[in-house]
Amino acid sequence: MKPIRRQTVKQLIQNPLLDTTVDVKGWVRTRRGNKNVQFVALNDGSTIKNIQIVFDLSRFSDEQLKPITTGASIHVQGTLVASQGKGQSVEIQADELEIYGTASPDEYPLQKKGHTLEFLREKAHLRPRTNTFGAVLRIRHALAFAVHKFFNDKGFYYFHTPLITASDCEGAGAMFQVTTLPLSDLPRTEEGAVDYSRDFFGKQASLTVSGQLEGELGATALGCIYTFGPTFRAENSNTPRHLSEFWMIEPEMAFYEIADNMDLAEEFIKFCISYALEHCADDIQFLNDMFDKELIDRLHFVVKNDFVRLPYTEGIDILLKSGQKFEFPVSWGIDLASEHERYLVEKHFKKPVILTDYPKEIKAFYMKLNDDGKTVRAMDVLFPKIGEIIGGSQREEDYDKLMSRIEELNIPMKDMWWYLDTRRFGTVPHSGFGLGFERLVLFVTGMQNIRDVIPFPRFPGNCEF
Ligand code: ATP
Ligand code: MN
Repeated sequence: MKPIRRQTVKQLIQNPLLDTTVDVKGWVRTRRGNKNVQFVALNDGSTIKNIQIVFDLSRFSDEQLKPITTGASIHVQGTLVASQGKGQSVEIQADELEIYGTASPDEYPLQKKGHTLEFLREKAHLRPRTNTFGAVLRIRHALAFAVHKFFNDKGFYYFHTPLITASDCEGAGAMFQVTTLPLSDLPRTEEGAVDYSRDFFGKQASLTVSGQLEGELGATALGCIYTFGPTFRAENSNTPRHLSEFWMIEPEMAFYEIADNMDLAEEFIKFCISYALEHCADDIQFLNDMFDKELIDRLHFVVKNDFVRLPYTEGIDILLKSGQKFEFPVSWGIDLASEHERYLVEKHFKKPVILTDYPKEIKAFYMKLNDDGKTVRAMDVLFPKIGEIIGGSQREEDYDKLMSRIEELNIPMKDMWWYLDTRRFGTVPHSGFGLGFERLVLFVTGMQNIRDVIPFPRFPGNCEF
């Protein structure tokens, strides 16, 4: 092989220097041809597109090409030329070939095309090599990048909240415990309870279900912050929209009221979707053509239209008057089920809806009480096909009101003195929200199951690799 710098397939297609010698490395998708010439479709993950490599059999023997089967990894040097064939603009006339690794056709699980998503979930260690998962994972990357860009451009600070926490009162979901105690021989107190004073941290600890409470410490110091990190919930929800380990983005803003919070949430989601449309056009087009013919239209529609803003009480009225039969009956005070959310979004308004001012009973203790004494300044952003994509609120900044909610709800606050200090010293109106990153990726990719938009999904009964 000549000392030539390797280029990615993306670079070769985007910026082709025709009639130069190029160097490319990747995994074989297919090989076909006849006894004069063989065509190999090579993919290196940089783009959904393959580059075609043409092997002239007057220069390569059958024996040399034999290891080139689907899944094999190869290194090729050759001349980049305009392609005669359909479906590609350039191709490589091979001069040199190096085989890195073979993939036995009898054993390689992705030998055939067109596997179901269920099958690929069983082969999660290899599925990033398929077109579908390559597309999803590149879009996921672009969205993560867009998140940071959006907030950085707005002057927000990325604030790292802990993954291991000793606060268990957020109430967002069941927690995974973190311990180094020997489970088969637990130390006990005299009363017989587990003696956590002898655990690693000297107290009971868990994986975080939300970075919000710590995020509020950041916002009341730096002004506007956001978190973007893993979140863990041990709830046994085997749904296509829940994971046990997911990534959440939680901006928290000092001096933001609920309306500012809604504006930010809407602008933020639209920015991320636009960013993906602009930077992942090929991948989104592929998913549109393969799985969901309305995907691109739906993405443009959401970016172009205002979200509906609707108080919970009016939402309930709409559901009551809808004449629709719901599995879970509707009345003021219920926590909306997915069927209710989707009726409002998909049937009634046909647009994303920001539902506000929920009954205090169904929302978290830290949300700001409205003057009616019954509802709180919560805002959930509801999306077509997804349901809740964002949950947020204006926070109660008044120490006494917050304390009386805590007492009403009997929340164990003994380890939460640090949170209450935000209300004792220089308290300010502030707001924030949480966006489940995988739900955003679900929406932008048009995938149906949240397990297909994260490389290594964690859900009840599943923790392979
Ligand atoms: P849901 O009602 O859908 O279970 P939630 O109200 O419990 O969600 P929040 O505590 O408000 O969720 O969390 C904020 C956001 O995090 C949600 O709007 C959603 O986008 C996302 N989210 C919550 N739980 C999960 C989960 N188990 N897997 C993936 N994303 C989640
Ligand atoms: Mn919520």
